[in-house]
Amino acid sequence: MSEFDLIARIRARAGTRGDVVLGIGDDAALLQVPAGRQLAVSMDTLNAGVHFPGDTPPAAIGWKALAVNLSDLAAMGAQPAWCTLSLSLPQADDGWIDAFLDGFLALAARHDVALVGGDTTRGALSIGVTVHGLVEPGHALRRDGAQVGDEVWVTGTLGDAAAALSALQAGAALDRGLRERLDRPIPRIEAGRALAGMASACIDVSDGLLADLGHVCSASGVGAEVELGQLPASRMLARFPAATRWPWQAAGGDDYELCFTAPPARHDAIVRALRECDTAATCIGRTREGTGVHAITPDGDPWTPPRRGYAHFAG
Ligand code: ADP
Ligand code: MG
Repeated sequence: MSEFDLIARIRARAGTRGDVVLGIGDDAALLQVPAGRQLAVSMDTLNAGVHFPGDTPPAAIGWKALAVNLSDLAAMGAQPAWCTLSLSLPQADDGWIDAFLDGFLALAARHDVALVGGDTTRGALSIGVTVHGLVEPGHALRRDGAQVGDEVWVTGTLGDAAAALSALQAGAALDRGLRERLDRPIPRIEAGRALAGMASACIDVSDGLLADLGHVCSASGVGAEVELGQLPASRMLARFPAATRWPWQAAGGDDYELCFTAPPARHDAIVRALRECDTAATCIGRTREGTGVHAITPDGDPWTPPRRGYAHFAG
């Protein structure tokens, strides 16, 4: 198989939409941005062994490569529209590419995202995706809008993916449900859309709650207090004692939930808006004057995680 055979295989399966004037096949794609919308653009790369375990099935790699990108659009409150795909592959393997596309295109179809171009090269396994979304001017959810006294919220539950990763690293038996949360995160697109124009700031939790909320705090010039007792846990995770669970929930990564802030006066409106898109959300703390994120135990004691989020090349 040549590079061109691979591209033909991808092109035959890539979806399209009415606003794709020209998709895969030319030197560039042509896309019609609707009048009165801003374009939100984001990209993320996944490297084997760093962003997914080496034994991850290709369909899960495809799903995750798009999911982590869509999660960034969700965190901006944007509606996904188009994507491009940069593939670096050790060899041109049609079985691998077909399985990869099964995962990638299943998620793309779910959110009506068209794959409009990309690049294919030989090298160590690495997948780069760029996503393009649309958002109403002034409604995008930025990191810099939190005000002192806002409530801090998180969607869904935290810590499952970190628990899965920690079991993998320890060579321990792994609950399939936890592994699923690591391999196939669900980007919170509908929640992001519902929060656009309503939340004061938002970020997706990819590197750990405290670290990511910390980015919101420094961009907004506020501090925050998070109550560990309020952190939402799945039934799978609730089985673990708090001391084991908290580091995964507060400082694990790969959750791809949304962490957002909003004035207390919007509390009920937020509950209603998120219920309408079937997304659970939990109020976990407050922003305050000062800097940094402070985690508090149910006894009111300050708590520091063993390690704060995931930093590439740390140590
Ligand atoms: P060029 O040499 O002009 O960059 P390429 O041969 O790299 O063109 O790509 C040909 C066409 O196939 C382009 O439209 C490009 O966007 C598309 N393409 C290449 N690789 C991928 C990929 N992995 N996924 C989707 N489209 C791709
Ligand atoms: Mg090229």
